[in-house]
Amino acid sequence: MPGAAGCRGAGRRPGSQKVPALRACLAWLAGVGRDISALHAHRSQPWPKSGAVRLPLFKLPAVDESLAELAAYFGARARVPDQELIRLTAAARRAGSRWDAIAAACGVRCFKDITGVVKMACWEGDETGPALLFGSTQYSLHQLTGSRSYFPPLRWDCASCGRQVTDRAPAGRPVHVEHGHVPGCARLAADQGARTRSAASGCRG
Ligand SMILES: [Zn+2]
Repeated sequence: MPGAAGCRGAGRRPGSQKVPALRACLAWLAGVGRDISALHAHRSQPWPKSGAVRLPLFKLPAVDESLAELAAYFGARARVPDQELIRLTAAARRAGSRWDAIAAACGVRCFKDITGVVKMACWEGDETGPALLFGSTQYSLHQLTGSRSYFPPLRWDCASCGRQVTDRAPAGRPVHVEHGHVPGCARLAADQGARTRSAASGCRG
């Protein structure tokens, strides 16, 4: 990186030398920009077979945008509107996240983690992150719909079998708490497998 030396030396040179050094630095940065543009331009083209160094292409992890959006509320300690809490959790469930993963992404482990971000939670069982988030979402649905129940069913559309699924609890065996999948649904099987692995590793969920 010849230009980098120019950047490092710029501060020690007389004032008249600063401009050339700055130009060298900008030229180096422009070269980096061209390299990145060229890399993007060639991503869909075959790589040369000889005499070329093959640069590694980084595969970015799949990002659940709904989950990231929900986590941003908790990260900023900003109030989540009722309809947004319902929409984002349902979208995250549809995208494949279990309630324990949603709670973990939002950093929800105990009651103080939801204080000020969601209105409140009525939860059944232990005070766990998934239970608090699940209960908060139920309460938002109760508020929004005027449901007489504080524990209304949370529903989402399964992208695998196409059926509407009702979550009966934030944890437990998926075959028992995810109602509505068609028999043999791949998503249900995946959730069941994830739950089995979590149980085997000593995690609750
Ligand atoms: Zn399904």
